[in-house]
Amino acid sequence: MITKVENRDIKYPRIELRTGKLHFILPMNMKHHSIMNKYSDWISVKQDEISKALLFSNDLKLCSRKLDEVRSLITEIVDNYSKEYGLLVNRIVLRDLTSKWGSCSAHGNLTFNKFLIYLPEHHFHYVVYHETMHLIERKHTQKYWSIISEKYPRYKEIERELLSYWFAIYNKNKGVHYVTER
Ligand SMILES: [Zn+2]
Repeated sequence: MITKVENRDIKYPRIELRTGKLHFILPMNMKHHSIMNKYSDWISVKQDEISKALLFSNDLKLCSRKLDEVRSLITEIVDNYSKEYGLLVNRIVLRDLTSKWGSCSAHGNLTFNKFLIYLPEHHFHYVVYHETMHLIERKHTQKYWSIISEKYPRYKEIERELLSYWFAIYNKNKGVHYVTER
């Protein structure tokens, strides 16, 4: 299933799944076969995840919201949580992201993928909550997931479903990473 191996100036190996294919990005000195040997279990788990997500992606119904609606929904959700948890949010940005739903910077900026226009309410809400909670805990630590599980006990399932949504949206856009305004 591995379709692309690339070496870059990075410290740790990573894989990208956004096209529904395994794309390995390795540190300059790391060879493909060494990662295959070292992480074979992890790779087969990922392959399995991708295959399942791709299968479910066929049956998903995508929403279609206006970007303005998405903007105000995000603002509303972030406002509620920042009050509830006493968080300082600097800026909220909506833009094209090529490989993730959103991100949270150390300066309190929350960035969200325009792909959110396609997500049903529950998953939409989860993505906004997920990024907002990174203002409390930057990394995906145990502490982070325990915060997430307070509101989303089935977050693991939602994360899996989000991967399926990603593939469905990616397919709909035929690999083009941007979403037009209308
Ligand atoms: Zn995260």
